[in-house]
Amino acid sequence: MAEKLILVTGAAGFLGSHLCDALLAEGNRVLGVDNLCTGSLANVAHLKNESRFSLEEADITKPFDFGHVDYVFNFASPASPVDYYRLGIETLLVGSAGTLNTLEIAKKYGAGYLHASTSECYGDPEVHPQVETYWGNVNPIGPRSVYDEAKRFSEASVAAYNRYHHVNTHMVRIFNTYGPRLQANDGRVISNFMMQALRGEDLTIYGDGKQTRSFTYVSDLIAGIVLLSKSEEHDPTNIGNPGEFTMIECAQEILAVTGSKSKLTYKPLPQDDPKQRKPDITKAKALLGWEPKVPLREGLAKSLEYFEACVEVGHTAAK
Ligand code: UDP
Repeated sequence: MAEKLILVTGAAGFLGSHLCDALLAEGNRVLGVDNLCTGSLANVAHLKNESRFSLEEADITKPFDFGHVDYVFNFASPASPVDYYRLGIETLLVGSAGTLNTLEIAKKYGAGYLHASTSECYGDPEVHPQVETYWGNVNPIGPRSVYDEAKRFSEASVAAYNRYHHVNTHMVRIFNTYGPRLQANDGRVISNFMMQALRGEDLTIYGDGKQTRSFTYVSDLIAGIVLLSKSEEHDPTNIGNPGEFTMIECAQEILAVTGSKSKLTYKPLPQDDPKQRKPDITKAKALLGWEPKVPLREGLAKSLEYFEACVEVGHTAAK
C-alpha cells in the first residue's frame, strides 16, 4: 500500500504523540500540528531524527493548510479539568473553530477523518454503563461546560460534514486514559496519585472517593483508535476499559504498585464531578474485534518508570 501522509492535530499531547508513534510504526508519514498550549515538545523529542515525521507549531483555531493529506486525526484540545478550567475560552475555540478548520482540510483533500471525542459527552450520566446511544446529562453552563459542550459541538460538526459533504468521518469517545507522557501536573487523578505516592505526600481524594472511573491504558486506546479509523463506522464509538474503580480503590492500586506508605486525605469535590463512568464496549468489540488487554494494576506498573523520572526532575502533582 502506498505511504500515506497523515495530519495529527495535538501531536505533542499525551494521546497525540502516542498516536503519531503508532501511525509511523505502520509506515505512514505524519505531519503533526500543535500550538503547545498543553502539549510538550518532550513528547515528540524521540522523533527528532525520524524523517517521516514533522511538527508545525500552529494554532488550528485559525484557518490553516499545509497541503494535501490523506487522513486527519483531530486530537487538539486541553483535556484535563485543570487545563480546561485555566484555558476555558481556548478550549471552546479549539473544539468549535478548530474542529471546523480540520474538517475543511479533510473535505478539500478528500481525506479520511477521525475526531477524538470523549466520555464527557455523557456528562454526569444517568445511564450506566454508558452506551453510545445515550445522549448524556451535561450542565451547559457549569465549569466543565467549556470542554463538554465544545466536544459535543465537535461531534455535531463531524456528523454534519459526513451528512452534507460526505467526508469519511469517525468519532471515538475516549474514557479516562493513562500511561507514560501523561502530564505529571495536569491534575488528573492518575497523575496526581502517582506523583503524590512517589513523593511520599498524602493522596488527595476529592469528595468521599466513592465516585467511579474506568481507566484505559494508552496502548489499548491507540490500538482501538487505529482500527476505528479504518472502519466504515461514522457514529461515535466508545473505546475504553470497562474495569470500574472508585477513587479510593484507585488510590489503593497506586499505593500497591508504588509500594508507597502515603496516607489518603480528603478534599472538596469539584462542581459537576461525574459520579460514575464506565464504557459499554459492545459496539467496539463487535465492529472492530477490539477489547482492552491491560488491566489497571499492570498499566500502572508500566507507567511507574515514567512517573519516577518526573519526580527525579523535580515535577510535582498539581497543587
Ligand atoms: N480526583 C481525586 N483526586 C485528585 C484528582 C482527581 O479524587 O487528586 C477525582 C476527581 O474528583 C474525579 C476523578 O478523580 O472524580 C477523575 O478525575 P480526573 O480529573 O482524572 O478526570 P475526569 O474523569 O473527572 O475528567
